[in-house]
Parts: sequence; C-alpha cells; structure tokens
Amino acid sequence: MTFAELANKGISTQPVYEAGKPIDQVARELGLDPAGIVKMASNENPHGSSPKAVAAAERALRELNLYPDGGYYALRSKLSRKLGLGMDQFIIGDGSNEIIELLGHVFLAPGVECVMHQASFVVYKLVTLMFGATPVEVPLVNMRQDLRTLAAAITPRTRLVFLASPANPVGATNSAEEIAELVRALPPHAILVLDEAYADFLDNPPDLRPLIAEGRKVICLRTFSKIYGLASLRVGYGYAAAELIALVQRARQPFNVNGVAAAAATAALDDDDFVARCRRENRAGLAQLGAGFGKLGLEFVPGQGNFLLVKVGEAGRIFAALQQRGLIVRPVKPYGLPEWLRITVGTPPQNERLLAALADVLRS
Ligand SMILES: *Cc1c(COP(=O)(O)O)cnc(C)c1O
Repeated sequence: MTFAELANKGISTQPVYEAGKPIDQVARELGLDPAGIVKMASNENPHGSSPKAVAAAERALRELNLYPDGGYYALRSKLSRKLGLGMDQFIIGDGSNEIIELLGHVFLAPGVECVMHQASFVVYKLVTLMFGATPVEVPLVNMRQDLRTLAAAITPRTRLVFLASPANPVGATNSAEEIAELVRALPPHAILVLDEAYADFLDNPPDLRPLIAEGRKVICLRTFSKIYGLASLRVGYGYAAAELIALVQRARQPFNVNGVAAAAATAALDDDDFVARCRRENRAGLAQLGAGFGKLGLEFVPGQGNFLLVKVGEAGRIFAALQQRGLIVRPVKPYGLPEWLRITVGTPPQNERLLAALADVLRS
C-alpha cells in the first residue's frame, strides 16, 4: 500500500496555502540583491515591530529553557482589562489562523457546512475542507460583501459563517450595522466567526462585545501579525462567550503559543503610540497608493486595511515584471481574480517606487 492509500480521505486533494514569496527566494530565483527587494505581498508592517514588544521578546529569550505559562495568564489578563471582558472569554492562538483550525476541531465534520464569500481569506476554505465539511461560497456584489446574501446561504447544516471586515484580499469593509444585522439573523445552530485581522486599521471598528454579552453566537478573531508588526512570532487571539471559549480551549495543545511570542504580545498591547502611528501612516499610504492608481487610470477597491486590491489586467505579467524590478506583490488569481493584484501599503518611498514601477510596466 502507498502512503497516499494509507492517508485519511481528502488529504491528497487538500489544497495548499500559497504564501507571498519571501525576499530571499525571489533574490535567489532572479539573481537580485535581497537588500534592494521590497515585499508588499503579505500585509506585513512596513514600520517594523512594536518596540515594546521587541524589548519584551528579548527579555523572554533568557528563559527559553522553561515552558511558557500554558494558560497565558499575563496576556489574557491584559486583554481582559483592555477589552473589558472576562479572562475566560479569551483564547490565545499560534496566529489567529490556529484559532480558525481549533474552531474546525470543535464544530466541523463531514455533513456540516461553512458559509463564506467568494474570494474570502482562503484559510476558511482550507480548514473547512480539512475537516471534511463543505464550503458554501456566496458571490461578491460589485466587489463588496453583501451580508444578506451571506445570511441567505445559511442552511440547517451550517455551523460556521466566516466573515472578515475589512476583507482580505478584497479590502472592502462592512458597517457595524450590517454586521449586527447578520448576527441577529443567525439561526441557533450557526456561529459567526468575525475575523478582525485588519480592524486595528479602522478608526471606529465595529464592536461586537454587546452582542456577545447578549448571548449571540459570535467569536471575534484578532492578530498581532499586522498593526503590531509581529507576524514572525505567530500570535493571535479570539474572544467570545466563556462557554464557547472553554470548548475551543479543549482543542488546543498545552503550550500552543511560545513564550517569546506571548511576552511580546503582552507588551505590544501597551504600545498605543506605535499602533496610533502605524494607523496614521497606513491611512496616508492608502491615500498615496489610491491617488497613484487613479492617475494611472486603474480601478481599485477602496479598502481600509493595510493593502489595496487593484485591477491591472494581465496581472500575471505585471506581477512578474514588478518582481524583476525588486517589488513583490500578490497575484490573486487563486481567489478567482485573475486581473487583480493585492498590494500592501508600504512606507511613503516604497509606495512611490511601486507606483513608478507600475507605471513603467503598464507602458511596456
Ligand atoms: C493576516 C490575516 C490573519 C492573521 O493571521 P495570523 O495567523 O494571526 O498571522 C487572519 N485573517 C486574515 C483575513 C488575515 O489576512
């Protein structure tokens, strides 16, 4: 018997996540100097990491011989104070991606369905398929997520409804009212997973805590990978009713997040200055890129995350040509958007370089 024959059903056909290309790989493949390459492909923070987080991570390096506090007391108690929720309402994950997988362990199995938008974050579909459940994808309406269409796709078999706002890779944002209406429309057997990975970039992100307090079925996911600039450490969290969190806690490994990451994340929560600066710079960068795309006559989705989705036509060719010029962006053909590129907001000079290269490449 082959290994594939011995493997669980579905694993051989399980799709694989395609990440943005690392700088070193592009340098190797194209014979470029890595120092001259700019990556605008994975929505990473161009301003580095929260300095408070880095200092805490350095201190934590002195205790690598010890297992971390598997209950993540310091991080959960700080989150509890910051968000005004009980400590038992938080789960810490190895990136918020892990929490999506943990929800799969708790709620998904063959025969159940997960509802999501087309071109939504691919991890929702990957986790759904991994547990043998069925993804149900609803179309975007003019590159926007229509939440009534999403609600209409819920059936008696639906367990999880995935929604990111701002959405990735599309970038569009749903209002607090739309999201609240969706939550109120959920039948008792469906749970909304609201992915707030980019909510930190909004001035007034929707606040679902009152709906959680009312007993509505929703879990919110946040990450330290984006505005806090800690993508490499892999840490995120979810908050929800204590009863739901207790179930998700059962599905995780005892020390799922490493101690360096937990210490850095705890310190990052105090770094309001860094967050405010990144939010301000990001808003300016969105305006800079948007104005540049407009000048080039390119259609783009007016996103509010730290990236923009722009329609360039032959996206494969443009992507390759930009890469030749040392600029890594993200083709979104795997999301069914073959004419579009997703471009992460960089520093002002990086944005300028991208716009100049794009103008050049579009002309040739
Ligand atoms: C970046 C991102 C995340 C966060 O992933 P981590 O595992 O926390 O790094 C989650 N959801 C979406 C939509 C994202 O774009």
